[in-house]
Amino acid sequence: MGILSGKKALVLGVASKKSIAWGIAEAMKREGASVALGYQNDRLENRAKDFAEKLASPFIVKCDVDRDNEIENAFLTVAEHWETFDILVHSIAFAPTELLKGDYLENLDREGFRIAHETSSYSFAAVGKAARPLLSRNSSLLTLSYIGAGRAMPSYNIMGLAKASLEANVRYMANSLGPNGTRVNAISAGPIKTLAASGVKDLRKFLTYVENHSPLRKNVTIEEVGNAACFLCSDMASAITGELTYVDCGYNILGMTETSNEQ
Ligand code: NAD
Repeated sequence: MGILSGKKALVLGVASKKSIAWGIAEAMKREGASVALGYQNDRLENRAKDFAEKLASPFIVKCDVDRDNEIENAFLTVAEHWETFDILVHSIAFAPTELLKGDYLENLDREGFRIAHETSSYSFAAVGKAARPLLSRNSSLLTLSYIGAGRAMPSYNIMGLAKASLEANVRYMANSLGPNGTRVNAISAGPIKTLAASGVKDLRKFLTYVENHSPLRKNVTIEEVGNAACFLCSDMASAITGELTYVDCGYNILGMTETSNEQ
């Protein structure tokens, strides 16, 4: 029996088989959860259907988190299938690619700031709020962050600010939903080559650096993130809420490295 046996999970953010959300959805299915998928737009619908077939998902639901009416409709659809559910995974982020390269201040503008924060941070609170009436007593919400929330990284720029906001959101949402028994956590994953990450100009450098310098001398996989997500959303993590868990092969503990292959 898996650690999520009998649980119902809605996973938002599967765009490809490289998506972190896919690693999470597969792991949750393996651990016994019934997994439904949310997808962003019509362009991704057929792909979502294929993924749903692989997971024997009870349903898929369209949810562009930039649109209030889509969030509302998405949870009306969820309510048609499930009286309550136990796990909501938010694996969604976006910022205009022009802002994810070069000098932070030089490329920054008001509209880019708004978009990054709205799609990547506000959306977690928005889906949490919409899901609230349907959440079971021991439910769990999970989102994905990156170390650029707390440290200045090349090219990550505006997304670093949006992730800092997202991490604050995790704490406020945990405090808001905690009295109902709902936990809210984030995983800060190491860099992984996905569609979204490819929008960050220096992704390849990030991957090489982590491979050469992280304590485990490797990059994390979506399967490893999926396994950590299962634990955090399982009853085994029943006293963990409002937390950020690094799943990054230990990279976040480093101050300065002794060896550098780049030198
Ligand atoms: P991905 O491209 O596979 O997933 C991003 C998802 O966001 C896609 O499914 C896309 O459809 C969805 N999305 C974007 N705008 C949306 C909107 N308006 N409405 C609904 N969905 C929307 O990339 P990924 O790397 O798997 O990203 C998932 C999460 O993991 C993101 O929050 C990302 O910042 C985070 N993360 C990624 C890395 C990495 O290196 N890949 C590291 C740490 C954290």
